[in-house]
Amino acid sequence: MGEIVYTAAGISNEGTLPSARTDLLLNVPNAGLDNKAIKQAQRLLKKAQPRCFILDSGGYEILKEESRGKQILHDPTKPMKVNGVLNLTPQHVIDTARILMPDIVIALDYPIRKRKYRCDREAEFRAKYRINIRCALETAHLRMTYLPQIRLFLPVQCYTIPQFDVFYSAVGHVSHDGVAMPIRNMNLHNLASFFRCFRDHGIRQVHILGTAIPRNLALSAYAAACVFDWVSIDGTTWRWEAQSMKYLSPCDLSSIHIKSVKECSTRYQSCLCPYCSRRSVRDFYYLPDTEKRYHLMWHNYWVTANYITKMHEQAKLNQGFDKYLINRLKPPTHSDVLQAIKVLHP
Ligand SMILES: [Zn+2]
Repeated sequence: MGEIVYTAAGISNEGTLPSARTDLLLNVPNAGLDNKAIKQAQRLLKKAQPRCFILDSGGYEILKEESRGKQILHDPTKPMKVNGVLNLTPQHVIDTARILMPDIVIALDYPIRKRKYRCDREAEFRAKYRINIRCALETAHLRMTYLPQIRLFLPVQCYTIPQFDVFYSAVGHVSHDGVAMPIRNMNLHNLASFFRCFRDHGIRQVHILGTAIPRNLALSAYAAACVFDWVSIDGTTWRWEAQSMKYLSPCDLSSIHIKSVKECSTRYQSCLCPYCSRRSVRDFYYLPDTEKRYHLMWHNYWVTANYITKMHEQAKLNQGFDKYLINRLKPPTHSDVLQAIKVLHP
């Protein structure tokens, strides 16, 4: 039975930390950009006191630059920004890790983009898998040289299991501790198939990048309880929903605009989080907007982390999980999760 860890992503300063002890995911192009950014990240880490700190390589930044048609440099001898152009290599990733000392570092990758048609997805995978293999191997080599005590996860940039087999046959031999995978719009059956494939390859630790969809959280919590030694998840939804004045239901994480909360059903009004317990949901409707956003942010983070923890605890019991899912997922997603669990245990 493994652990599950939920890390807050997208935090840039200590003012937005949702709780006294917050597990964090930071990324290299933000946290390691220059001395000022490193000092800021160090202050954040000191305040957050994370039990788990994950340093992501910054593939997402590469994807953003790529989608804007911008060039990306690969010069390990130059800074991470050269005349405003992103310059990112495995050396930058490991140099940043040597300063910030995360628990887990994710190797550099070139993310594959969302593509509608199968032929386009295959072309996107083919265009990037060689550089992804090279980046994984280089990051693994540098990590073994400078930071053998820190766990390394290899990023999975594949749409299908056969593509993963191609990638992993080229990198699986290097020393690493787990894999990191974005879900994008992957369905539950595919997610379960990837989990089964990881298990069959002997992979024991998995990080899921950027999701807050309850069915994905439920399946990941189950996989942590019954399949892997470690599953971590990062997310920013708690923060973005708060920015849009949206409140996440403690029951099933569905969101509702704060204007509607005071008239809505009790599923949005009985929250035990440390922020709501001091005042009713009706009260914070009348707060000034800035205070309201902070309150929503802290509440949304707490209910997401709590949802995952409770799901994991229930999955570990090995009985009654199906009934628990009915209360915690909107129909018909609870039956989708049960079907996906069957994929893990054929
Ligand atoms: Zn609350």
